[in-house]
Amino acid sequence: MTDRQKSFMKMAIDLSRSGMNQGKGGPFGCVIVKDGQVVGIGSNSVISTNDPTAHAEVVAIRDACKNLGHFQLDGCEVYTSCEPCPMCLGAIYWARPSKVYFANDKNDAAEAGFDDQFIYEEIDMEGKERRIPFMQVMQAEAKKVFEEWVSKENKTLY
Ligand SMILES: [Zn+2]
Repeated sequence: MTDRQKSFMKMAIDLSRSGMNQGKGGPFGCVIVKDGQVVGIGSNSVISTNDPTAHAEVVAIRDACKNLGHFQLDGCEVYTSCEPCPMCLGAIYWARPSKVYFANDKNDAAEAGFDDQFIYEEIDMEGKERRIPFMQVMQAEAKKVFEEWVSKENKTLY
């Protein structure tokens, strides 16, 4: 890891501390870099925005995509102060950056009171067995829209 890359991670760690001290949310920060330049930043803002999805990585992905004017983070590197939770892991896969660097890992997060292991376990369970039951209804009706999508012309693929 280069000194410049270390400075990006230091920035993510600084964001984790400043967000926490400003009452934005938990101690998590994230920086997104493209071609050696910062294109997006984020601190966990769950508390200040009343948004349970405002994790540092999601905030930074939204910021970077807005700044880049695109819904993908092609060629970007993500520097996050902590190993992403399952939601952010998913968001990162949808955004498609080229690499992720993290500092704290999920065991460190669990020790600090941010245990997300149960979500990984829920993923493998049958929907109706989950703590929050997932029930399938009206599949046939919803599927018609997918069929319309498949046959739709001039659509933007992502
Ligand atoms: Zn997360």
